[in-house]
Amino acid sequence: MSAPLPVADSGPDLKSARTILRRVYGYQSFRGLQEGAIGEALAGRDVLAVLPTGGGKSLCYQIPAILRPGVGIVVSPLIALMADQVDALKQAGVRAERLDSSQSLDDRSAAMRQASAGEMDLLYVSPEALAGSALVQRLQQMPVSLIAIDEAHCVSQWGHDFRPDYRALGRLADAFPNVPRMAVTATADARTRADINAQLRLESASEFVDSFDRPNLTLAAERKDGRGHDRVAALVKAQKGLSGIVYAGTRDGVEEIAAGLERAGVPALAYHAGLDPRARSERQRRFLDEDGLVMVATVAFGMGVDKPDVRFVIHADPPKSLEAYWQEVGRAGRDGEPADATALYGPGDMRRIVRWAEQSDAEDDIRKMQVRKARQLFAFLDGAACRRAAVRRYFGETGVEDCGVCDNCLRPASDGFDATRFSQMAVSAVVRTGQRFGRGRIIQHLIGEPKDQIDQDLSALSTFGVGAELGKTGWRTVIDQLLFDGLLGEDDADMRPTLYAPDKEITRSLFAGDISVALREDPTVVRPRRKTKKAAREEAEALSDRDRALFESLRAWRSATAKAGNVPPYVIFHDKTLRQIAVDRPASIEGLRGVAGVGETKAQRYGEEIVARVLEAG
Ligand code: ADP
Ligand code: ZN
Repeated sequence: MSAPLPVADSGPDLKSARTILRRVYGYQSFRGLQEGAIGEALAGRDVLAVLPTGGGKSLCYQIPAILRPGVGIVVSPLIALMADQVDALKQAGVRAERLDSSQSLDDRSAAMRQASAGEMDLLYVSPEALAGSALVQRLQQMPVSLIAIDEAHCVSQWGHDFRPDYRALGRLADAFPNVPRMAVTATADARTRADINAQLRLESASEFVDSFDRPNLTLAAERKDGRGHDRVAALVKAQKGLSGIVYAGTRDGVEEIAAGLERAGVPALAYHAGLDPRARSERQRRFLDEDGLVMVATVAFGMGVDKPDVRFVIHADPPKSLEAYWQEVGRAGRDGEPADATALYGPGDMRRIVRWAEQSDAEDDIRKMQVRKARQLFAFLDGAACRRAAVRRYFGETGVEDCGVCDNCLRPASDGFDATRFSQMAVSAVVRTGQRFGRGRIIQHLIGEPKDQIDQDLSALSTFGVGAELGKTGWRTVIDQLLFDGLLGEDDADMRPTLYAPDKEITRSLFAGDISVALREDPTVVRPRRKTKKAAREEAEALSDRDRALFESLRAWRSATAKAGNVPPYVIFHDKTLRQIAVDRPASIEGLRGVAGVGETKAQRYGEEIVARVLEAG
């Protein structure tokens, strides 16, 4: 982590950066490492900035681009992301445009003309567009203030979202030798950072790596309970009326969950790569524009979704690595207000993801790394450590404290339950029945259910009915634990997972009592599930009836204004800003300027209408 260096005497300095922060964005002070990164860019030096999601990465390049002469080029991987940022900048009175395939030729050449004339602050482009030399040559002919590379981890195979197009961006170092370049990302471990530096030729860049903490996120993970998507539906219903994302591993899963939610009266949309692009962008738009929609999606959805008020993320199936997990849960609570993230996982997911990594056709060491990352993910999901602290340590932070609010922090201290005897029964049943049955059948056998009585041979075995004292749920927990511990394996050669004992030596040690198996809780006790914690959010949102009425009136005004201007509501004002207005009740435009999130342009553009509503409310 570098300390901000003094900026050069000539040219804009941090004081002017602060003025822009106030006047354009309506914020009083910089957050975290923003100031350091901005200072470097203003002084014409290269920067690599790793800031958490919602940490305010875009300001780091937008402000220097506004202040330095020439146009700032921003490389951004997704059209939706560009569109959102350009809308938001225009709302704030900044001259910004994008060049992408969805725009008409006329619009594109108009943007280029303005940029050449020095009348543009920011120009957003895709990596594909920059991979060709035509655009680069045209940009070389204009004054360029800065080149920003967003989602820079995409350049690295060590990252989690490698995009070959990003590789070409290293060439920009030679093409624009005197232009400061800034790479920004939310997730990059040390190895990925080194790779970003090498690939993008940022050897002499100052690095700003912020804490990965997201204090407003409440994290939880649960083993799947074997009852399909019921649990997902229950988790969503606990967040009634709020915007959220449900990630599922397959298209079928997405469709089923979305349909189930719709049937239950929860407004939900499905999103996956099998839908045609029009339907996808229409659904994405609706998710951004409407309040309280639930998006059920594969990972095809999300990169570049900067909706600030996503209140929950649920993983109906787990992601592939902790990097992906952090990126995905990071889409909740960008506005800094409380948000929940719950991940569901099971031994079948572990098997699938580890196998996917093992069978990838990547180079040897990359494949090994992927397998390791998959295992680390499940150690995290199934582990008992504070969730947030575990993620931060994974990303290399030291001296982190427990969050105090995640499921593991809130779990009452217990010594665990010694499940060695149950484990011996289960493994023994698997071995004696010939390692040819799946979990359901093995449980029936252990409980002594009639099905096996038809099969005389099976019911004659000593393991038949030995486990009647434990219910089906209890047995499922025991078998899950054995799968996570590697005492049992699951093989699905003919589509039906079959349990087997993978290691004779370990099996013998288990039977001999040399190794023990521990569960977190006593499986013979059936406990009601914990509810999702909403208390923190409700407290943060508590408004008096009078303030709430004004807040709702402001939201209605915002919806109408957004619709008229064809932009998402949050680019006009965030909920947080509206809530503040409802409480402060500024009676003049001057007073409105004091509210965080209200910059000059917005105060002028919307001030009268807002003040009128405040006065009307009395
Ligand atoms: P990121 O790209 O890092 O996820 P953004 O740049 O979208 O984050 O910023 C997240 C939110 O925080 C935005 O609403 C932005 O306006 C706000 N923000 C950024 N910097 C500041 C600041 N210094 N003070 C207050 N809010 C800020
Ligand atoms: Zn915790």
